[in-house]
Amino acid sequence: MTNVTLITGDGIGPEIAEAARRCVDATGAAINWEICEAGVDVMASQGTPLPQATIDSIKKNQLALKAPITTPVGTGFRSINVHLRQEFDLYACLRPCKSYKGVRSRYSDIDLVLVRENTEDLYAGIEFEKGKDDTAELIDWLNKHSKKQIRQDSGISIKPISVFGAQRIVQYAFDYARKMARKKVTCVHKANIMKYTDGLWLEVSRQVAAKNSDIEFEDHIVDNMCMQLVQKPELYDVLVLPNLYGDILSDLCAGLVGGLGVAPGANIGENAAIFEATHGSAPKYKGLNKVNPVALILSGVLMLRHLGNDAHADKLEKAVAAVIAEGKDVTYDMKESRNDPTAVGTQEMADAIIKKMKIA
Ligand code: NAD
Repeated sequence: MTNVTLITGDGIGPEIAEAARRCVDATGAAINWEICEAGVDVMASQGTPLPQATIDSIKKNQLALKAPITTPVGTGFRSINVHLRQEFDLYACLRPCKSYKGVRSRYSDIDLVLVRENTEDLYAGIEFEKGKDDTAELIDWLNKHSKKQIRQDSGISIKPISVFGAQRIVQYAFDYARKMARKKVTCVHKANIMKYTDGLWLEVSRQVAAKNSDIEFEDHIVDNMCMQLVQKPELYDVLVLPNLYGDILSDLCAGLVGGLGVAPGANIGENAAIFEATHGSAPKYKGLNKVNPVALILSGVLMLRHLGNDAHADKLEKAVAAVIAEGKDVTYDMKESRNDPTAVGTQEMADAIIKKMKIA
């Protein structure tokens, strides 16, 4: 038995968590779920959006499947998602983007994986607010030590990229490519403009690539990469990106394969891995048994692969693909018209996936 923490989240979280748990169980994988809470609902009852019991469970199991969690705007409630990434140093964000027959999209032949650095870059959270004393002091220092001048009424966000951070994520991308029998790693950067951050990123990527010469390596400047992905996405395999470009391009790639409803993800570190859908908690659909459970179910597939359990992962992914391809027992967002009365609910789509596994 493998112990897995199941974080049920809030908004649509509990219903898609239930659908995903049932589908993973139906593969026959021996999983012992520890159901844990996080998010706005548990905040009301326990006074914290991230109970210690949930953190302890992830620490113990080192593995979690997590439903989405709301980050209320302007309440001082920190993002639980960011907190978990920092708490467990989940430095690698994995976003596979794959075409499934039956999903409405302009493209039909995409199978690429984004590997996003999750801890550094402009997302490190080092910011200086316009008008504050510290900010004025920093601007004075920078104006004294740089040939360029920063206006006094500026806000400043810092972009750190380290050799350590770049090395471990690029090596992760090569290790992942090798494990999944993929052929090429593409490094994305803007080294022509930001020489000391993206330049360092590119230099380290090339050094790591030289030690992993069994896998093809290339690099692209981020703006060119966006155009390449829109024009010929089938040419790409594994992309490795610093945090900000990774965030933006993972949504671009999700769009290429049909949107958030089918975009799974994982945040992985040395001591824990948390698997989750790319989409959020869609609060307006809470409790309606309406939304698409596929992104979280496919995150369950990623989790099974992470465990080395390819047979169960293949079984579940094939069943998901078959239900989507048939287009009958799918949620409203996968129908041609969003008002199609034949759309099924979240649990009914999970039932159809489970049924496919039984007859396979
Ligand atoms: P969202 O992804 O929750 O929803 C945006 C829209 O996408 C929804 O209104 C819905 O139309 C559609 N959608 C999303 N998931 C769907 C599904 N499974 N099936 C069908 N349609 C789906 O994005 P948002 O409204 O910007 O964010 C809502 C909350 O979720 C915010 O508080 C945000 O911070 C949080 N969030 C959490 C995570 C996470 O937990 N990892 C990720 C992103 C956003």
